[in-house]
Amino acid sequence: MGMDPLFDGHGRRISDLRVSVTDRCNFRCQYCMPADGLPWLERAEVLSFEEIERVVRVTARMGVTDVRLTGGEPLVRRDFPGLVGMLARVPGVEDLSLTTNGYLLERDADALVEAGITRVNVSIDSLQKDRFFQLTRRDSLPQVLRGLDAIARHERVWPIKVNAVALRGFTEEEAIPFAEFARSTSFQVRFIEFMPLDGDHAWSPDQVLTGEELREIIDRVHPLEEAPREPHATARVFRLADG
Ligand code: SF4
Repeated sequence: MGMDPLFDGHGRRISDLRVSVTDRCNFRCQYCMPADGLPWLERAEVLSFEEIERVVRVTARMGVTDVRLTGGEPLVRRDFPGLVGMLARVPGVEDLSLTTNGYLLERDADALVEAGITRVNVSIDSLQKDRFFQLTRRDSLPQVLRGLDAIARHERVWPIKVNAVALRGFTEEEAIPFAEFARSTSFQVRFIEFMPLDGDHAWSPDQVLTGEELREIIDRVHPLEEAPREPHATARVFRLADG
């Protein structure tokens, strides 16, 4: 049986639900967590799979169709593909997406697709091994790239998005490698605005590298043209003008 739909404060119908399945993570990104991690939640404070499924089931009856699974790092949660399977069976859920740092994706890609994940976003802030280590405090870029390859074998979840946080003083050097990565692979690269997350209290407004600055850096080397976007999309979309 359906229930009254959900609306936000601007009267817009809510169709998305974002579920953070754990506060834990196997990385320690400079802008997110201290090197020693955070005081993690007690197990009893974290929703069980059954509780998450119940929340999703109730909100789906109120019109939620898109469920985004995040963390922390979702794949560190034991038997995470089992949760995906439970949520994929909830009536009304049409889109079940995952945002991951990719470290455990090589292990879990097949199980996630089999369980019913429909979209995957992989967070990678640098394509250079030493700079990746500097930012995440983990020497794991090759492992993450293997994870990307593993999930990319499943065309059912294409297009796979690679998300890079745009940090002033860091991402300027990454812009061209990412543009060339987007050109030479099937992945869609997205630069994400640096927001105050902010376990390490590292955020300040002057660390935000704007989309305009990034576009200028790329456009000087690889001219860009704006592509159409969906009416409700928050991102602006560009493609390389020479194809
Ligand atoms: S930004 Fe993501 S990958 Fe990095 S420490 Fe935070 S939760 Fe983990």
